[in-house]
Amino acid sequence: MIAADPQMTGTPADTQPALSLQGLSRRFGDTHALREVSLDIAEGEFFTIVGPSGSGKTTLLRILAGLDQPTTGALLLRGKDVTGQPPNKRPTAMVFQSLALFDHRSVGQNVEFALKMRGIDAATRKARALELLDLVRLGPDYYGKAVTQCSGGERQRVALARALASDPEILFFDEPLSALDYRLRKTLEVELRSLQRRTGRTFVYITHSLEEAMVMSDRIGIMKDGQLVQVGTPSDIYDRPRDRFVARFMGEVNILQIRDEHLPELDSPLPGFADGHLILRPEALHTDGQGIGIKVTVQERFQLGSRVQLHLDTPAGLMIAEQPASCALQPGDEAQFHFDPAQAHRVTE
Ligand code: ATP
Repeated sequence: MIAADPQMTGTPADTQPALSLQGLSRRFGDTHALREVSLDIAEGEFFTIVGPSGSGKTTLLRILAGLDQPTTGALLLRGKDVTGQPPNKRPTAMVFQSLALFDHRSVGQNVEFALKMRGIDAATRKARALELLDLVRLGPDYYGKAVTQCSGGERQRVALARALASDPEILFFDEPLSALDYRLRKTLEVELRSLQRRTGRTFVYITHSLEEAMVMSDRIGIMKDGQLVQVGTPSDIYDRPRDRFVARFMGEVNILQIRDEHLPELDSPLPGFADGHLILRPEALHTDGQGIGIKVTVQERFQLGSRVQLHLDTPAGLMIAEQPASCALQPGDEAQFHFDPAQAHRVTE
């Protein structure tokens, strides 16, 4: 399906990254949108870039896709320098948040667009479009439908099929699911992941939703102020955030200061722990068991399916605990919670 890259001859595919980002920086006047971003993305990897608004995600993705150029640095695609090469000269495709479908054309015409541009005959185009629609789980009936007759989720699938039509080696995704409702988003997250596995293509995705990143990705890169501050598997990042920024970004966490082998806010000794912060997930706090005790007053109780979330007033400020639904604590109750510091993760920054 994909023509061999002459530069790749004799080189095992798995030793050559699909993309190699080498010190990419981008300035807009005085704004440093990207600062020295270096990273290798492997062939067939689902890599997601996550970060808050303004952290540089779109700038980075646009440079990777060839829609913008870095101020300094280089981008290698399978070992070949493509910095400065326009997007249509690259074996890549992009799926935008806005989808950018041609509304006045049919689903089939949208999917076939790249094939028509290449001068492929109508019968071959149609056969390929039907295959692609099948790949994104749209039946042959959709081929002749107007795009305007499709629902949000169906349009999303059409955009995917259209991006896949040019048989790209790498697909870039710019928050394609953010406009969809929660349930549809969840379904499409799983489908995108499965599509990526079935096609074996490299997917590079940006989102501000860490939940989305956790579901789909082989690896996640966390961006802050134009830099990649941590790169790792979802569990690396969830279990071992490198600093408080990443820990907070990963969801609800409790953060306790450690100074002189003490937790000053709890007035508890913590022998053997160097200065820094302790990251405690809500599920690390228990009403029974041993470890460091915290006297709390329950402020709020929220039912989360089979679990309850409790907001606790503590000497260290507001803390959040997650308990089984059988937990009887109600707002106003006083209680003693515990956690095992050996199970907690410590960060220095
Ligand atoms: P969001 O999630 O809100 O889309 P983002 O993480 O994608 O944010 P970018 O759009 O990459 O962030 O922007 C990074 C920084 O670069 C921001 O400070 C932004 O204002 C600035 N920036 C981006 N594009 C331009 C531009 N064309 N001209 C000037 N400044 C820009």
